[in-house]
Amino acid sequence: MTHNNGDATDDAELVTDPVCGMLIDPATAATTREHDGTTFYFCSIACAKTFDAAPHRYGHPHP
Ligand SMILES: [Zn+2]
Ligand SMILES: [Zn+2]
Repeated sequence: MTHNNGDATDDAELVTDPVCGMLIDPATAATTREHDGTTFYFCSIACAKTFDAAPHRYGHPHP
C-alpha cells in the first residue's frame, strides 16, 4: 500500500467521480463534497458543481 514502489499500477485506492465516472486518486482530486456523511471526489470543479445541483442524481440515490 505504498505510493513509492515504482509500479505503475500501484495500490492507491481510486475513487469514482460520480458525475463523469472517471477514476481518480483522492489525493489529487480537484475538490470534494460531503453529503450525508459520505465524501465524494471530483476530477474538476465543474463536476462538483454539477453534483451540487443534483446530488441525488449522481451516484447517491436515496430511498
Ligand atoms: Zn443524499
Ligand atoms: Zn469528473
